[in-house]
Amino acid sequence: MSKVAVIGGGASGMMAALTAAEDKENSVLLLERQQRVGRKLLATGNGRCNLSNTELTMQNYHGSDPAFTEHALRGFDPEKTLDFFRKLGLLTVTEPGGRAYPLSDSANSVVDILRFACAEAGVEIITSCPVLGIKKDGSKFLISAGEETIRTDKVIVACGGLAGGKLGGVKDGYELLGSLGHSRTALIPALVQVTTDPEYPRALKGIRADAEIELFSEDRHICSARGELQFTEKGISGPVTFDISRAVASLGDKKGTVHIDFLADYPRNEVLSMLRAKASAYGTLPCEELFTGLVHNRLGKMLLKCSGLCGGKTMSELTEEELADAAGAAKDFRLRIKGTEGFDNAQVTAGGIRTSEFDPRTLESRMVPGLFACGEVLDIDGDCGGYNLQWAWASGRLAGKLGK
Ligand SMILES: Cc1cc2nc3c(=O)[nH]c(=O)nc-3n(C[C@H](O)[C@H](O)[C@H](O)COP(=O)(O)OP(=O)(O)OC[C@H]3O[C@@H](n4cnc5c(N)ncnc54)[C@H](O)[C@@H]3O)c2cc1C
Repeated sequence: MSKVAVIGGGASGMMAALTAAEDKENSVLLLERQQRVGRKLLATGNGRCNLSNTELTMQNYHGSDPAFTEHALRGFDPEKTLDFFRKLGLLTVTEPGGRAYPLSDSANSVVDILRFACAEAGVEIITSCPVLGIKKDGSKFLISAGEETIRTDKVIVACGGLAGGKLGGVKDGYELLGSLGHSRTALIPALVQVTTDPEYPRALKGIRADAEIELFSEDRHICSARGELQFTEKGISGPVTFDISRAVASLGDKKGTVHIDFLADYPRNEVLSMLRAKASAYGTLPCEELFTGLVHNRLGKMLLKCSGLCGGKTMSELTEEELADAAGAAKDFRLRIKGTEGFDNAQVTAGGIRTSEFDPRTLESRMVPGLFACGEVLDIDGDCGGYNLQWAWASGRLAGKLGK
């Protein structure tokens, strides 16, 4: 028998443990520092768990070497993942855009199925058991967990990253692997809300809009994205914000501005024509109603305010210049960036243990034979939409094969 310890009972760790247990030559121990396994998984997808994405491409992954993911993701692609879960007893549904969720619409089901499957496969799960150190002793590993020292033949580090601090995001994985000679890149929060000059967002809190957003820093265009934007107490959120959040976090001390286009499907001159037509058709109405029917009412009023149009006028009294300013505000609404909501509120950690130190075909350390790593602890992060869990499953599956 070969004794295998998996450190971390999250998405990748449970997958790795299940996979390792498929080989009856292995006796598998899963060590989890929190009181229960899969705590972060329960919070994923707003409690629905967006567990994969069937429209995955390699462009959805980031890190120093995103191609590192290829072997794992081709070996266990979204289709195989959903099939794997179906065989465990979990039905899923795929929404337009490829996002896959459990049919039950509840992340609980995913955690429960993984727990049942681990128990059935003979994986021994020990919770409330933080691993404090790993040492190499000849061909064996000595794992310090609480009061105990556990001797194993193989170790899989699946401790996740720093994101989601309240859900158990810690730096243990980096430190455990660091103590065995591995190094890491800089860590930054990604898929996280962006904080902005609070003047406008506070009044817009709760509003959602389809928008195209562009990030600029020191007059340089950094990146752009299109999708749903949400205004929060302190700034902006929603999938389109998540798409630029990694670039925002990378700005560091540099100043940044986000330019928002709320009518991205309409060129500026067309927007101006629509506003002119509105002003002439409803000439006796107050100018506050200029954007009614085009954007959310509260947002429309804010756009007028920030284009300098105050109340008191009727629509027919608006000048051509005022209409052009209003069109400009809808097409290019600017917010100064303060930063991000940080690791506690981030969904994923960008950066991590250097992938060049691991073999992409097995996820075994190139420095320490018998040591494997999977999931977010490695320098790989995915876009919003199920890509991070897909990486957790695929890398956990590969690491759990233990090089065989
Ligand atoms: C709020 C939120 C929502 C998200 N929604 C989605 C989504 O819908 N779709 C998606 O694809 N991704 C989502 N993600 C990202 C996704 O959850 C993670 O990328 C994924 O869980 C990473 O899997 P992992 O196994 O590497 O780490 P984790 O799932 O974080 O698991 C790591 C485990 O290791 C344990 N651990 C750490 N240190 C030790 C130690 N020293 N000893 C023992 N155990 C230890 C931790 O307690 C934890 O249980 C979301 C993340 C957050 C925070």
